[in-house]
Amino acid sequence: MYTGLRLDSFKHLCNTGTIEIMPAPNMVTLSLDQHADALLRSCVKVGETVALGQIIARPDISFSACLHSSVSGTVQTINANHIVISNNHKDTLDASLTPKSNWQTWSKTELIAHLAEGGIAGLGGAAYSTSAKLSAGQQQHIDTLIINGMECEPYITCDDHLLREQAAYILNGVQILLHACGASRAYVAIEDDKPLAIDAVRNALAQLNDQRISIQVFPTTYPHGDEGQLIGLLLSKEVPRGQLPSAIGVIVQNVATAFACAKWIYEGRPLISRVVTVTGHGIHECKNVEVRIGSACKDVIAYCGGYRGEISTLIMGGIMMGTALSSDEMPITKASNCLIAANHLDLAPNYIEQPCIRCGECAHACPVDLLPQQLLMNLRNQNTAAVEELGLRDCILCGCCDTVCPSHIALASRFRVAKLQLLG
Ligand code: SF4
Ligand code: SF4
Repeated sequence: MYTGLRLDSFKHLCNTGTIEIMPAPNMVTLSLDQHADALLRSCVKVGETVALGQIIARPDISFSACLHSSVSGTVQTINANHIVISNNHKDTLDASLTPKSNWQTWSKTELIAHLAEGGIAGLGGAAYSTSAKLSAGQQQHIDTLIINGMECEPYITCDDHLLREQAAYILNGVQILLHACGASRAYVAIEDDKPLAIDAVRNALAQLNDQRISIQVFPTTYPHGDEGQLIGLLLSKEVPRGQLPSAIGVIVQNVATAFACAKWIYEGRPLISRVVTVTGHGIHECKNVEVRIGSACKDVIAYCGGYRGEISTLIMGGIMMGTALSSDEMPITKASNCLIAANHLDLAPNYIEQPCIRCGECAHACPVDLLPQQLLMNLRNQNTAAVEELGLRDCILCGCCDTVCPSHIALASRFRVAKLQLLG
C-alpha cells in the first residue's frame, strides 16, 4: 500500500490570526480561462457599467460555471483572455441576486444549474466547475460525497483557516452538495495537523445533528489531498484509469467550494472572492486573505506588507504542485489558493542534475504507480506512444518523484510540459 511522503511543514509561517478581507483594488482583470473545463465568452461590452456580482461571461457548455464581476464599475478592455474592469468603489450589488431559501424543493438538475449561475468552481486549485462535476455524476448513482479539507501541501493554510472560522457554514454547503449529487453520506476529510479545524468541525457537526455527515481524520501525509488518493484512503476504492470518481459513485469537493455554495444559496453572493494563503520567507506579513477574483498578485503582496528582500520565485499554488509566475501583475483566479514569495529558505538549492542511476526511488514514491524514470527516458526520445502507454495522462504532477530523486532530476516539471504539449 502506498504510504506517501512526510514533507517538512511550513504551515507555521501562516497559521495564526484570522482571515483578513483585502479592500477591493482599483482594477480587476478577470480571466476568461477561469475554469478548467470551459473557456468563457464575454457577455458585456467595453464602456458598460457593471454591478458587483453581475455575470460578465458565460460558458458555451451547459452546466459549466459563469464568471461574475468582482467589483462594480466600468468595463475597460475585453480581449480573448481577459475582461478588465475599473472599480468605482461603490460595490453596487446586482439587483437580481437573491438568496434561495427554497433550494430543498428543487430537483437536482435545477440546483446544479443554479450553482453554475453562481460561478461555483473547485477552489482546491483546479477550478473545475462544480456544476459540471455534479452533472457528470447524474449519469451514475452517487452514494458518497467527500469534502476535501486535507490540504496536504506544506505551505497552504487557507482551507484550515476557513474550517476554523466557518465550519457551520461549510456544513450548510455540504447539505446543498448532498442534495445536488443525491449521495446518502458525506465525509469531511481533514489531516491531523489541523487540530483547531477538527475541533470546529466536530462542534459544528454536533450542533447540526445531520447523521449523513461525519468527519474523518487522517495522518498528515503528502499527497493524500489528491482526489484519487483520498478516495483510496477513505473508501479503499480506485478510480478506473481515464474515468472520473463519479464512475465509482463518488463526488469530491473542496471545503472552500462547499463554503461558496452556502454563500451563493443563502446570501445570493456568487463566487467573486476567495481566500488565498500569502506566505513564504520572501513576504513581510504572511496572512490568509479574502481577495476579490481578478486582483493583481502585486496588490495582494502589497496588502501583506510587500516583499521581504530579494525573492527567487513567486509561486502560484503550493510549493510542490504550484507554478512559477512570470510576473506579479498576474491576476488572482478562482484556482489561486496560495501565493508563495519564495527565497533561498523555501526552495531547494539549484542542484545540477546528475545522470539517472536507475535506483527506482521515483517509482517507489509515485502515488499512482508510474515509472517516472521510464517516462523521462521516452520523453527524451520523443516516443509519444510509449509515454502514453506508460500513463503520463495519470500523472498528478505531485512532485514526489523529484523529491526523492538522488540525482536531482526535475521530473515533474518535464511531465507538466509534456502533458500540455503531447496530451493537450
Ligand atoms: S529516482 Fe532519479 S536516479 Fe533514481 S531511478 Fe528515478 S530518475 Fe533515476
Ligand atoms: S509527478 Fe507524476 S510521476 Fe512523479 S510521483 Fe507524482 S504522479 Fe508520479
